Amino acid sequence: MSGKQGKAVIVGAGVFGATAALELRARHWEVMLADPGPVPHPMAASTDISKVVRLAYGSDETYTQLMEEALPIWREWNRRWPEPLFHETGVLTLTKTPMAPGTFEYESYRILESRGHRPLQLTPADIRKRFPGWKARTYVDGFYQSEGGYAESARVVAWLAELARAMRVAVRPETKMAGLVERSGRVTGIQTREGERIAADSVIVATGAWTPKLLPYLAGSLKPTAHPLYHFRPPNKRLYCETMFPVFTADISRTGWYGFPLNRDGIVKIGNHGTGRELDPDEPRQREPEEEASLRRFLEETFPTLAPLPIAEKRICFYCDTRDEHFWIDRDPQRQGLVVAAGDSGHGFKFAPVLGRIIADAVEDRPSPLRHRFRWRSEVHPPCGQEESRYHG
Ligand SMILES: Cc1cc2nc3c(=O)[nH]c(=O)nc-3n(C[C@H](O)[C@H](O)[C@H](O)COP(=O)(O)OP(=O)(O)OC[C@H]3O[C@@H](n4cnc5c(N)ncnc54)[C@H](O)[C@@H]3O)c2cc1C
Repeated sequence: MSGKQGKAVIVGAGVFGATAALELRARHWEVMLADPGPVPHPMAASTDISKVVRLAYGSDETYTQLMEEALPIWREWNRRWPEPLFHETGVLTLTKTPMAPGTFEYESYRILESRGHRPLQLTPADIRKRFPGWKARTYVDGFYQSEGGYAESARVVAWLAELARAMRVAVRPETKMAGLVERSGRVTGIQTREGERIAADSVIVATGAWTPKLLPYLAGSLKPTAHPLYHFRPPNKRLYCETMFPVFTADISRTGWYGFPLNRDGIVKIGNHGTGRELDPDEPRQREPEEEASLRRFLEETFPTLAPLPIAEKRICFYCDTRDEHFWIDRDPQRQGLVVAAGDSGHGFKFAPVLGRIIADAVEDRPSPLRHRFRWRSEVHPPCGQEESRYHG
């Protein structure tokens, strides 16, 4: 393994860690990618059947612009995969009230249009005709954006790890970091749970929701929150195919609800992009009856034929929340040789094609337009969530 730039040890093989490994290797670093599990780890946030890939970010043009860079790469990856893992179903963004200035839907529509995209505004009659699974009397306005859709995230991470191996990244499963090795204010490596010391010129901690456990001095800035996901197996498959039931958000900034069409295994997935509940990611991931009651209320008012079905599976998955909901990708100002790449705040996966570059720029201390947004910012207090699609109620 040649490493002209030195040796980078990346802790955590979710999408942040795996993309960083590829980019650093391409920049001639010697790279190790370590994770306690198999890769992908079943408990990682990235390990799921699907993640939304959307351009719409309300009035926050920076993320839309970043997605404009990521989308062609998603399509290019699709061409490289034996079968597509990015499904460009388009994204349906509906609301219960007419779109008004200041709302996520209106501002997303405005920004998309101003940037040359072609979001298609929908009337209740359009909604009824094109998307018959929806209760058109409840949802009266919104738009369909043909770019975007969903990525099969666990399979994408598995492919990234495979590619990393092919590029001679040392992918090390069953390797759990227990602590940093430090000398005179400089991080010189990591120590594993088994007591092994692994030396590095640069350590990149990309451990998602586990980050504040590993680096407790970040507990004031990064917080693990648990979010439920539900799977259904509808018998009427046609109604939930991607043309009639594309990836959607349902009044999302006021309800949190979003979901996915029938996938290759006959599953329709529904999630809630809300505040979640604070929980240790190593604690048992228990179901909350109130979360299910809220899901049933949503289904009854939105998808009449989905509402009576049993839940085929429920998963709990963890965000690593920052106070402002922007990612946290920067060099530790107190510890030379350490970069933290975490703080996904529940919306990081769609940026997979560009994340590695952002993280590698931080490792190499290169200027980049996003360095400021994702900077080390312990001063941000109290919480001030700025991800406009998220339900903060
Ligand atoms: C319910 C839910 C829905 C989401 N929906 C979307 C969506 O629709 N669209 C979207 O763009 N994003 C979405 N996200 C966000 C997305 O999943 C995350 O942004 C992304 O997966 C975070 O990746 P990560 O690499 O930071 O963390 P993870 O994928 O969690 O990876 C962290 C890794 O660190 C490892 N690790 C932990 N401790 C150690 C240790 N001590 N030593 C070594 N390794 C360790 C873990 O095993 C794990 O593999 C969603 C997240 C959740 C939870």
